[in-house]
Amino acid sequence: MAIPSQPRPPAPVDNPWDRAAPELSILSAGPSEMDRKGLRALLEHLGEPAFRGDQVFEGLYRHRWTSWDQFTQLSKGLRTKLEAAGPIFIPEITESVASEDGSTKHAFRLADGKQVEGVHMPYPPRGVHAPAPGRVTLCLSSQVGCAMGCTFCATGLMGIVRNLSAGEIVGQVVAMLNAHDHQEGGPVNLVFMGMGEPLHNLENVMAAFRILTDPGGMALSPRRITVSTSGLVNGIDRMGAYPKRPRLALSLNATTDEYRSRIMPVNRVWNLDSLSEALARFPLEKGERVTLEYVLLQGVTDSLEDGRRLARFAQRFPSKINLIPFNPHEGSGFEPPTEERIGALCQLLAKAGLIVSVRRSRGQDVAAACGQLVRGLQVAAKGPGGSHRAKRLP
Ligand code: SAH
Ligand code: SF4
Repeated sequence: MAIPSQPRPPAPVDNPWDRAAPELSILSAGPSEMDRKGLRALLEHLGEPAFRGDQVFEGLYRHRWTSWDQFTQLSKGLRTKLEAAGPIFIPEITESVASEDGSTKHAFRLADGKQVEGVHMPYPPRGVHAPAPGRVTLCLSSQVGCAMGCTFCATGLMGIVRNLSAGEIVGQVVAMLNAHDHQEGGPVNLVFMGMGEPLHNLENVMAAFRILTDPGGMALSPRRITVSTSGLVNGIDRMGAYPKRPRLALSLNATTDEYRSRIMPVNRVWNLDSLSEALARFPLEKGERVTLEYVLLQGVTDSLEDGRRLARFAQRFPSKINLIPFNPHEGSGFEPPTEERIGALCQLLAKAGLIVSVRRSRGQDVAAACGQLVRGLQVAAKGPGGSHRAKRLP
């Protein structure tokens, strides 16, 4: 008798973002990776009173010292012990490209030679007068490469290499503030909108957040730190559960599941409905809004119908919309929208009662969109035949 064929179990879905990304292996948990509590414990371990840990923390993050020799209030003997516990590791700026508007894009080399990038954006932009000390926004990377594979994004083309450690994330801030001789007083905003998906590296991002907001160090305001995600719903829920956390931005980028799944593979797992539910249950503080980033790709995501759907999506929870004209890069296969279309979408959204702004790409002349400087350096190093081909919409 023939044995009836068994239905095959569905193949397990293998999403690169479901696996933990590799971590930095060559740096042990030295002082540059420690929060204030960790440094207090380290100093006690070295036979010192715990308050010396606070002094070290203050030196590292308030004064932004980068060598143990600068800690002159500590004895020579203690400095030697600290040196032995580990170097102060700050990512090295290997390339800086200044834009006409005053922003500067930096490429960083990490301890294992990997590269990431960050952007220093002073406000107001060059040429605009400000009566008070200007603020600065720093765009940070959270990973080397990215697992999410968005088809319009230069970082997405690299794939995931590894997570940045908490110290490497904080180190980008120290390096950029030092490079630009930042004086205390001017507010500092941080946006995790450089390379990588921060919610795929949530533990290290939150550890960096605790160091950056500690009143004994840089004392940055949690309200001025924004984590941008491509829509990892499990990560959004986990971040929402922290009692102190950064602000949330979602890269929405399309208004139908069909198109979002084509340009952002994560949408095949967490679609627009599941995102809208996740944002509706996200525990916002009074007055807090979720930023909806929306990259405008000509002929793909920039129709007036898209605008109407975007308005309906944004009205379901407190939000503000940031329209981002696509920043073209070699081989992407996408085009930025026309100025007329940007204007029409802005009007449509404002008429619907929404807060809307357009991200006039700071540093567009220096390839400021996510991943473009480092990818440009890699492509240049490989020669003309070395670039990957970007995927086009099917
Ligand atoms: N991975 C996170 C944060 C880094 S990307 C995220 O996707 O949200 C930061 C922002 O840059 C995202 O909103 C992304 O959609 C946008 N972006 C990526 N490539 C771009 C490009 N070429 N032009 C304009 N925006 C881009
Ligand atoms: Fe990763 Fe964000 Fe780029 Fe998508 S847009 S590939 S999530 S960095």
